[in-house]
Amino acid sequence: MSNLVEENLKSVRQQMELACQASGRKTEDVKLLLATKTVTLEKLQMAMQAGEVLFGENKAQELRDKFPLMQQYNRVEWHFIGHLQTNKVKDVVKYVTLIHSVDRLKLGQALYQQLIKENKTMDILVQINTSYEESKFGASPETALELVEQLSQFETLNIKGLMTIGKLNATNEETRDCFRLLKSIQAQIKEKSFPRVEMDVLSMGMSGDFKVAIEEGATIIRVGTKVFGERYLPDSYYWDENARQDE
Ligand SMILES: *Cc1c(COP(=O)(O)O)cnc(C)c1O
Repeated sequence: MSNLVEENLKSVRQQMELACQASGRKTEDVKLLLATKTVTLEKLQMAMQAGEVLFGENKAQELRDKFPLMQQYNRVEWHFIGHLQTNKVKDVVKYVTLIHSVDRLKLGQALYQQLIKENKTMDILVQINTSYEESKFGASPETALELVEQLSQFETLNIKGLMTIGKLNATNEETRDCFRLLKSIQAQIKEKSFPRVEMDVLSMGMSGDFKVAIEEGATIIRVGTKVFGERYLPDSYYWDENARQDE
């Protein structure tokens, strides 16, 4: 197999650079996170060999399976980007440096308690459902401020910013509205100056909409398909309402 992953990466990096130039941003201010759900170890390794260092997983099980490979590359970092059930918290905090998907108090509490036991802290983002789509996770924009304030009481959690999934199969303008909404929620939260809440990270933009996300201020974009190709499992497997087992 010729190294398609490497070629795809080059193309994505180029498009990122163009989007940065077009919006007057510095290339180094936007990080590329590779979303690796269902991706084979072989492809993952190609990305690591091409120099990529930031990866995101949706499930604890897949994190565990991929961990041995990750350990061979010492600059590599994992984030958790999927829906997190409280009973999986323990498995996830072992492997990752940032959790993008904290969207409810109960999850914050579970993380807080696990981290106390382990005598560590964890960086988190608060996930907001900016598209108001039923099938997606995230706190509603209306409750975001309150949730961040409540989460800020948990001393083992460092709140670094916000994450969202833009409206899918939508026009650029509809998607842009989602990203603008996230940015405006970030501004409202910053104004409150909650203790230990930093709010500098905006995780938004995927294969279909990362250019718009960069124009609207993303600091991390999460790209899967554009680098690794189509997945064999539908996203509903990761995003479906039925996965909300612990609420
Ligand atoms: C799968 C996934 C992505 C990447 O999606 P692509 O469209 O394949 O780029 C980004 N964010 C989250 C939360 C995901 O689950």
